[in-house]
Amino acid sequence: MGFRFVAIPGHRMVAHPQSLPSDERLEPELPPLHEAVERAFAGAEFRDVKAKDRLRALLKGDKPPNLGSPGSGFGPSALFAQPPQDLPALLRLADELESLARRDAGERALVWKCSECSARYAVPVALARSVSIRCERCGHPVELNPGRSLGEESLIDPFLGAVNSARHELAGFFREAMARGWPVLVSTEEIGS
Ligand SMILES: [Zn+2]
Repeated sequence: MGFRFVAIPGHRMVAHPQSLPSDERLEPELPPLHEAVERAFAGAEFRDVKAKDRLRALLKGDKPPNLGSPGSGFGPSALFAQPPQDLPALLRLADELESLARRDAGERALVWKCSECSARYAVPVALARSVSIRCERCGHPVELNPGRSLGEESLIDPFLGAVNSARHELAGFFREAMARGWPVLVSTEEIGS
C-alpha cells in the first residue's frame, strides 16, 4: 500500500470528495518504492501503537477516511496527527525513525570470496559464525571463518538506503508540520488508478 503524507493548515482541511488545497502544503519527498516507505515505519511506534498498524487502521479500518484527497490517483485522507495534542507523539516518532536509520546504516558485514569463482558472500557481523558452505555458483567449499574474512563493510543495500532516506525525510516533515502547527494527513493510492 503506497502511503502519501501531506500537512496543510487546519482551517484549510476539506471533506471528501473535495480535494485538499495544493497551494499551501508540506509534503515529504518519499522514494517511489512503496515497500521502502512501509518498511521505514517498521519498528516505530506512535502513541504506543505500531506506526504501521495505526496507518492501516486509519486507512483500511471500519471507518473509512473522510477528508479530501491530496491529488488524482489517491483516495480520501485520514488525520494521522493533530497538533497540539499529537505533537509530543509525532516528535517521538520522528526521533525513532532517525534512530532506526542510524542503527541500520551502522550495520556491518563480514565479507568472503569463493576462491574458485570469486562469488562474494557477506554476513552481518552479529550473525557471523565459523561455518563451511558450498558456493552457490560453483559448488566449491567456502570457509566463512570470521578470523579470515576479507574485511568488514557496510551492509547497506540500495533498498535499505531508500528506506533510510524515507525515514529522514519523514522525520523532517513531521517536525516541520508540528513547528507550523499543521495537521498531518495520510492517504493511500486508489486501487485500479
Ligand atoms: Zn564459487
